[in-house]
Amino acid sequence: MAWTGELAELLPGRVELGEAERSGAAGDMSPLRQMAELRGVRFERPAAVARPACTADVQAVMRFAGDRGLHVIARGGGSGVVGAIAATAGDIVLDLRNLSGIGPVDRESGLVTVQAGCILETLEEQLAASGLTLGHYPQSIALASLGGLIATRSSGQYSTWYGNIEDMVAGIEVVTADGEATRFGRLPRRSLGPEVWPLFVGSEGTLGVITAVTLSAWPLPSAQEVRSYAFRDFRQGLRAMRQVTRKGLPLGVIRLYDRDDAMHGFAGVLPEEGVDALLLLSCLGEPEVVAGGVAAADRIVSQCDGHALPEAIGRHWLAARNDVSEWGMYLAQGVLVDTIECGAAWSAIADVYEAAIEAVRQVPEVVAAFGHAAHAEASGAGLYFTVAAVPAPGREAAEAGRRIWDALLGAAAAKGASVGHHHGVGRMRRAWAWRERREELAILESLRTALDPGRMLNPGVLWPDP
Ligand SMILES: Cc1cc2nc3c(=O)[nH]c(=O)nc-3n(C[C@H](O)[C@H](O)[C@H](O)COP(=O)(O)OP(=O)(O)OC[C@H]3O[C@@H](n4cnc5c(N)ncnc54)[C@H](O)[C@@H]3O)c2cc1C
Repeated sequence: MAWTGELAELLPGRVELGEAERSGAAGDMSPLRQMAELRGVRFERPAAVARPACTADVQAVMRFAGDRGLHVIARGGGSGVVGAIAATAGDIVLDLRNLSGIGPVDRESGLVTVQAGCILETLEEQLAASGLTLGHYPQSIALASLGGLIATRSSGQYSTWYGNIEDMVAGIEVVTADGEATRFGRLPRRSLGPEVWPLFVGSEGTLGVITAVTLSAWPLPSAQEVRSYAFRDFRQGLRAMRQVTRKGLPLGVIRLYDRDDAMHGFAGVLPEEGVDALLLLSCLGEPEVVAGGVAAADRIVSQCDGHALPEAIGRHWLAARNDVSEWGMYLAQGVLVDTIECGAAWSAIADVYEAAIEAVRQVPEVVAAFGHAAHAEASGAGLYFTVAAVPAPGREAAEAGRRIWDALLGAAAAKGASVGHHHGVGRMRRAWAWRERREELAILESLRTALDPGRMLNPGVLWPDP
């Protein structure tokens, strides 16, 4: 019997061998891959898709694959955008979406344990019923799984208040390549030597498969007020963003859009003239804290020569912030729309933004490039660029994509940026991650060898495997 048949016997009813299922699980949502598929490229498909229903199923698949020298690729929501899932013909894709149970909520401590394939929006709905929120709101909230969010070191729109995904993790259960399930955790914090769990945050399926996670949640805020302001230019807006952030106001969201990004995202609600940069922020918490926060924000912004804009802008952002329906339409018309993020300290961020935008606009296929700053913290923020390009068919599209990434990240790195903020490394950013982190990744590689000597888990991602 072929090994795929043996796998199907090992997990009866939970292994898919059909063409459509294998095709559907082969990749992620990387725009370049989507464009190639629309243009008729047929990517390789895994040999089998296993859909475990419990941790023991994951352990069984790992032991099965280990005995036969097969590769295993963990897949959550498949919403990654950096080519971290690209199965080849002999692989097993571990589709974790059936591993989606949500344990009881400890309301007193705000702790909840959930299986890793649970989609974030489902968890948030359940937490909201208990008056709680994780506070993690990526634009892909309806698509991404908790395991995937942790494996990619994700950031959400409200990261300035709630932190990034790593700040919410109180414990992780991981199945390693040898089939062992181990629970790593801190509750709520401890000083007993270095923790092991952070290794799996950002590991992109290469060090183990996350099967369950304990997360800490907060009470839902009782009030939120959104404000927006116009600036003469992006640099001036960044100065205000930095000052507001560093005053420690109760900021949920704070984002600064350049003119083109603002005109694109707020068409119809933004005045046509006089907005060369748009700062949008929200204060949240108890009503008196919110009132004090927005009053302080108004004052600081006005000292930085910003002026307040109508409330409709904030309402528009709240309603439309996760709508990316136009991406598919552009792709269908042959327009590649890719998004690339990086991070920078406040002292470098304006130079990074200007250099990156300027460099990517020089790529011949690029027809538009704009950006915004977000995920502000004490020492800096993330920069998020949207780049639209019209590549010629065939190999040209992949090559144009590569030129776009290299131009943007090369210019950003030269001005002192970190070349990745929250989408992870995958294959698109691997060479750049190594340029920035060679020594660190080399140390991590020896840990990887200890955990996965046969390079069974998601090879080619993070590390340049043959
Ligand atoms: C429209 C859109 C908007 C987005 N907005 C944001 C945003 O605001 N913020 C943000 O951070 N990201 C965003 N992303 C990117 C994406 O949603 C995140 O990278 C997300 O964390 C991926 O989760 P997933 O479950 O879909 O993972 P997948 O795409 O399934 O997998 C991503 C990586 O994680 C690994 N992995 C998945 N599950 C596990 C597991 N259980 N154990 C070990 N490894 C695992 C995979 O092997 C792969 O390497 C967006 C993507 C899209 C398409």
